[in-house]
Amino acid sequence: MKLWNEEKDISKENKTNSFSDITELLQLEGEMQQQLFERAREVRHLHGGDEVMLRGVIEISNYCQKNCDYCAMRAANQGLERYRFSAEEILSIAEDIKNTNTISTIFLQSGQDPLCDSVLEEVIPELKKLNLNILLCLGQRPKEVYFKFAELGADSYILKFETSDPELYKEIAYTPLEKRLQCISWLQEAGFKVGTGNIVGLPKQTLDTLVEDILLAIQLQPNFVSSSPFIPNQDTPLEKLPYGNLNHTLNTMAIYRLALPSALIPTVSALEKIHKGGQLMGLNAGANVLTINFTPTRYRRKYRIYSDKRFVVSLEHALKTIEEAGLRVRMPSQ
Ligand code: SF4
Repeated sequence: MKLWNEEKDISKENKTNSFSDITELLQLEGEMQQQLFERAREVRHLHGGDEVMLRGVIEISNYCQKNCDYCAMRAANQGLERYRFSAEEILSIAEDIKNTNTISTIFLQSGQDPLCDSVLEEVIPELKKLNLNILLCLGQRPKEVYFKFAELGADSYILKFETSDPELYKEIAYTPLEKRLQCISWLQEAGFKVGTGNIVGLPKQTLDTLVEDILLAIQLQPNFVSSSPFIPNQDTPLEKLPYGNLNHTLNTMAIYRLALPSALIPTVSALEKIHKGGQLMGLNAGANVLTINFTPTRYRRKYRIYSDKRFVVSLEHALKTIEEAGLRVRMPSQ
């Protein structure tokens, strides 16, 4: 059986045929799975080359208005010590990122915290002067806030839809999926390069839900797309659930590569958390981005999107992983 050919048209236009093709690809294991990954690497080679983009993330605030059941930064978690960085702290760490001479994107991430806005309005124009891409991940915000950040010079924004199932999203994130999708549309309208994606292993998720996730991602035509395995997080309602399925996550990444050939696809730290060498597996499944953590050590344990024992990606780990995959770093433009 040939895994992939022109007749398997996983594309925005071909939803009916794609559903069965994606269901089949999602479940592959063993030799057939390796063929899928090989095809994903070929597509990456043809469309973006064999270079991996490095991002340097600064987790600027762990305050959050929302209450997602899978995240310990949820507002209801009163046991978590909160922090919010000043403009000076962010700019000082940004200099460290610039000085690596290998990282092309500064990635500012926080909970959904509107009190960061004035700080961001101050730092975005300053970060522009460093001549690096500015990527934001700050949650659902009013349309005018997105437009303001874009006007100030931010280049891209990540807002994952997490799951395509509206009932499930409402049940675990307590806000309508429709509103989140509206935000993604505003981000595109504001001119951002937009990233989105899903979580594999949420409660009540079925194989069909995962197929719908992939179809939704294709429909949105994002510039970046990710798939992350669910990580049970202490002090949350879902802390007793098992990890998300590694094979389903890797297969989703490979399918994203086939369907969105030029997209930036990160191999996320959660893969390394659930399986040693997981980020290398992600690169071998077609990913082409690694995110290195620049949040100062004393704050990292407080940024609890995954768990208090998260895997923290260093520059050394990233470079070694890229070398093991036979790829090279995409150097920042000067
Ligand atoms: S996942 Fe994001 S929006 Fe949800 S509680 Fe955590 S930080 Fe807040």
